Amino acid sequence: MKTVALAGGVGGAKLADGLANLLPSSDLTIVVNTGDDFEHLGLYISPDLDTVCYTLANLVDPVKGWGRENETWNFLENLTALGGPTWFQIGDKDLATHIERTRMMKAGQRLSEVTKQFCKSWLIGPRVLPMSDDPVRTIVNSDEGSLAFQEYFVARRCEPDVTGFEFDGIEKAVPAPGVLEAIKDADLIVFCPSNPWVSIDPILKLKGVRRSLENKFVIAVSPIIQGKTIKGPAAKMYQDLGVEPSALSVFDHYSDILDTFVIDDLDANLAEKITTPVLVTNTIMKNRQDRIDLARKIIEFCSMH
Ligand code: GDP
Repeated sequence: MKTVALAGGVGGAKLADGLANLLPSSDLTIVVNTGDDFEHLGLYISPDLDTVCYTLANLVDPVKGWGRENETWNFLENLTALGGPTWFQIGDKDLATHIERTRMMKAGQRLSEVTKQFCKSWLIGPRVLPMSDDPVRTIVNSDEGSLAFQEYFVARRCEPDVTGFEFDGIEKAVPAPGVLEAIKDADLIVFCPSNPWVSIDPILKLKGVRRSLENKFVIAVSPIIQGKTIKGPAAKMYQDLGVEPSALSVFDHYSDILDTFVIDDLDANLAEKITTPVLVTNTIMKNRQDRIDLARKIIEFCSMH
């Protein structure tokens, strides 16, 4: 089954990895949010792309779910000693990724080309595409004013109350080469359990993406279980915006595009309120087997509907 997965960082990477371990590589394309990208210390940093690639390449820190396993921190410690900005943690191995990506982009390569090269070096089978080669920057509007995404997420630890989002550059940006084609060729589109507001919405708001999904079979996995996230601010964002955080709210978020929806066993009582076919299963991916099991159940469920 030719599949396109839309993904943000940690939640997205886990299901993308499950799908990657189940499907032939040529049948899977993963489209990754770049709204969180930013420039720091002169480096181009693409947190969600890195999380997805490190996960697929088995290089990721399994505890944090982002960054590199067995990381060392000489660079950050020495930057601290110099009084440099250390609010964004960059380990030594991770630093090589950012430096090389920045060098290649300064030499004229597009983010999608750099990503392709990195995937080759890291022996990643499925195609990983940034959502766009054009800059799109997520802005979080809050009671403390408008904050660049990483400022809200890392520096302010998601504490400000969110009043809305903007995606700077979204009108001009076009999907990266291959994104619309992959959707067009796909039998199945999976929205990974990523943050609907800041990981999936930026992809959906890109020119042509929503329309390309109109005749496609789309399934989404809720990143909210029993009203809470496994990690990150998605539930708080719903709350700040006056919406009760729940899998049902995630369903409502996407309902105009979805054909089916996945909720966790722990939310089984919500199934009757969902107006599409719903898969109720374990969606908490603690290990690789959980990821593969969820990916398999999704594929089986979609083949039946
Ligand atoms: P970020 O950019 O690193 O925050 O990553 P994402 O947007 O991809 O993922 C954040 C979301 O992933 C959060 O809302 C989490 O609740 C969700 N998430 C993380 N791990 C899991 C999991 O194992 N199962 C489910 N259902 N959701 C998860």
